[in-house]
Amino acid sequence: MNTDQKHENELDRSDSLAAICDDAAVSDDAAVSFDGIAANHDDAYASHPDSFAGRNRPLAPGLYLVATPIGNLEDITLRALRVLRSVDRIACEDTRQTQKLLNHFEIRTPTVSYHMHNEAGRALELATALKAGARIAVVSDAGTPGIADPGGQIAAAAIAAGVPVFPVPGANAAISALIASGLAGSSLAGSGLNAESFTFHGFLPSKEGQRRTTLEALRSNGNPSGGTLIFYEAPHRILDTLADVEAIFGPAQHVVVARELTKLHEEFLRGAVTEVRQTLASRASVRGEIVLLFAPAVAEDTSASHPASIAQQVRDLMASESLAEKDALKRVARARGMGKSEAYRELQRERGK
Ligand code: SAM
Repeated sequence: MNTDQKHENELDRSDSLAAICDDAAVSDDAAVSFDGIAANHDDAYASHPDSFAGRNRPLAPGLYLVATPIGNLEDITLRALRVLRSVDRIACEDTRQTQKLLNHFEIRTPTVSYHMHNEAGRALELATALKAGARIAVVSDAGTPGIADPGGQIAAAAIAAGVPVFPVPGANAAISALIASGLAGSSLAGSGLNAESFTFHGFLPSKEGQRRTTLEALRSNGNPSGGTLIFYEAPHRILDTLADVEAIFGPAQHVVVARELTKLHEEFLRGAVTEVRQTLASRASVRGEIVLLFAPAVAEDTSASHPASIAQQVRDLMASESLAEKDALKRVARARGMGKSEAYRELQRERGK
């Protein structure tokens, strides 16, 4: 088990942050020091309306989807700072949250709220302004807008209105977790059939029944190529989710829990799901932001450990041993290490699918 491979990053990042913020606040100077690079890339990027070569020109009109840090302010990009300074307005998931970032970098651009409750209406309003030639940035509380965050609707509205949409890439929790998980490109990824592939599933449903149904669907037919599955998860649900992964994919399923990425207490727990779950369960509480990753074997292989649904197993036992349904269910529950009522609830859920 590799859970002790977890590393608490002992760096006092607040020190480095202070230094960074000083640097970032004078990003125009910092940009000058990149002139050598810019010269090499001028040809390639010169035609882009928001090119590095043209950074001293006014920003082109359009929609800018700007990634912001997921914990470490050093992960803001020079281009994100320039764009946030230069746009007419910044549409924010939470204006108060973004204001902290803007204050930090001494950016005075006006903000407007743009969140899941007003996304559709605000997208139309912003699209009208964009059509009239505005330059608008969209940011979420942290990370890349549009990835488990608002941003998608305004991008679609801008495209529909014929307005240019510019990605300003940067931090993202899923990709950060994946590249350090040890799963990307590794033989630990499922059957090894396609270790390079991965699928991002956002948050699993919070209700236990729906979560199990989603995971079962992924076991049965959702991962035919054997790539890595990536989920966002809340700290108060991670133990239940790991228990579901254990029940559905088996206790030996290798998982990675990536917690508090880029922050002071960044940690990776890697190992068999049963052991990772026990490690987390032994703590007084589980806190922080979490990405869960695992790469199940392709469907044919996993079927060996859990051959069928409960309903199928019950039917098989009734047919092969002439058992009454309740006796067959009792046997299935025992074989799966479940209580009778839990197995009954699962059976009902499967039938309700
Ligand atoms: N748009 C963001 C992105 O690009 O990653 C994701 C926003 S989503 C609402 C927030 C979830 O992302 C968290 O609940 C957690 O699962 C994951 N997340 C965000 N920051 C994280 C971090 N620093 N470490 C681990 N997971 C993180």
